[in-house]
Amino acid sequence: MIEHRPQAAQTGDPPRLAIVGGGPAGLMAAEIAARRGARVTVYERMGAPARKFLLAGRGGLNLTHSEPLPQFLKRYGEPADEIAASVRGFSPEQLISWANDLGQPTFVGTSGRVFPKTMKASPLLRAWLQRLDVLGVELKTRHTWNGFSRNTAPELIDAHGSRVTPAADATILALGGASWPRLGSDGSWVSILRSAGIEITPLSASNCGVEIAWSEIFAGKFAGHPLKRIGVQIGDVTHRGEAMITRAGLEGGVIYACGREIRTALAKDGRATVVLDLKPDVPEAALAARIDRPRGRQSLANHLRKTAALDRQAIALIHETGMPIGAAAIAHRIKHIPLTITGLGGLDRAISTAGGIAFRGLDARLMLLQKPGIFVAGEMLDWDAPTGGYLLQACLATGATAANGALDWLSDRTRQNASNDGRRVADSTP
Ligand SMILES: Cc1cc2nc3c(=O)[nH]c(=O)nc-3n(C[C@H](O)[C@H](O)[C@H](O)COP(=O)(O)OP(=O)(O)OC[C@H]3O[C@@H](n4cnc5c(N)ncnc54)[C@H](O)[C@@H]3O)c2cc1C
Repeated sequence: MIEHRPQAAQTGDPPRLAIVGGGPAGLMAAEIAARRGARVTVYERMGAPARKFLLAGRGGLNLTHSEPLPQFLKRYGEPADEIAASVRGFSPEQLISWANDLGQPTFVGTSGRVFPKTMKASPLLRAWLQRLDVLGVELKTRHTWNGFSRNTAPELIDAHGSRVTPAADATILALGGASWPRLGSDGSWVSILRSAGIEITPLSASNCGVEIAWSEIFAGKFAGHPLKRIGVQIGDVTHRGEAMITRAGLEGGVIYACGREIRTALAKDGRATVVLDLKPDVPEAALAARIDRPRGRQSLANHLRKTAALDRQAIALIHETGMPIGAAAIAHRIKHIPLTITGLGGLDRAISTAGGIAFRGLDARLMLLQKPGIFVAGEMLDWDAPTGGYLLQACLATGATAANGALDWLSDRTRQNASNDGRRVADSTP
């Protein structure tokens, strides 16, 4: 359920809000602002809004996570405070109830992740766009943001290449990161904002695959095969989950969860070492005892499959890093497979983008300090989180913060102008 704050302007015409970017952050900003009585137009460069959101639906649309809020907020690392303020304002519980109101009840998966029961984005998006239409939100597709025109208004280029400069009392930019650029968000806003003096942390791929120099045989035979229920350790951080073997290396939830540490190690040393545990639930000694059972005439692979319950790709991975001799050594290796990561997969197919507009340059309402009247939301801000529903939660929550921030700022300005007018009249009264 969305909290209903008072109307933004107490007097005169409703405020006009331009929102650029029709992804989840922009659409949530539009909903909040329209509910508060603003005249809202959403400008989107593609022929239809929320293309990346629809793609996220192909993986089941992990909307948020059910873990307790203090734990939830830790997933954002730095800058936790700024994101925490937004997520407290639009919490996972509120998100679930919002989805429910759109006719999309949710369920909690075994990992604690929250999904719509349909496991799709399209029914939710359809209902959401209908709701925005009823609220009077205008959607203009094929309009690309090109910079600032008057103080608080955007400059756009329409489908015919013509410059459009709509009147707006405030603008919210929700232009996304730079992953999957063919879906609309290509990070082209970075150069425009930088030339306006806005500090931006360089964009890089997050929640993306990592590069490992597999042998030709291993990559050729096992790319596309999963490593199920494994542990991955980097430094003193360990995560559990699944990974997928790719031609170039590994991808999947457990790798994304280690993303921050992997990125830091790569930046420092040009490489990162992770240690895989193929049997995180079985103590090493118990594993060694099982492997030590008589093997008879079985191949080692068959023996390991039966005694250690390892599948073909897991056994091949042990071979890839050198199969040791003896039950104890094999058990140790199963629980400590060292892998050297040499790089990250590209932005093209990353799930999200790290980096973005630095929070130092924003106030608590997510307004650019250098550009009063221009607010920002979603993945274009400098935060990062693993998969698990934390991405959409932060995008929707910052969209809500920016919309409330813009309307509060306009109300303050209206009040300020009225009181200045009052003072002027008083001063000029003889
Ligand atoms: C394969 C995949 C699966 C994912 N699955 C999940 C998941 O299950 N759970 C989860 O939490 N997150 C998931 N995500 C991440 C999530 O989709 C994003 O974090 C989220 O969509 C970002 O929202 P946003 O509104 O900030 O940006 P976007 O969704 O990127 O929207 C920005 C919009 O702005 C438009 N735009 C960009 N530049 C301009 C411009 N110059 N002028 C006009 N319009 C412009 C774009 O066309 C786009 O429509 C997934 C992402 C991918 C790629």
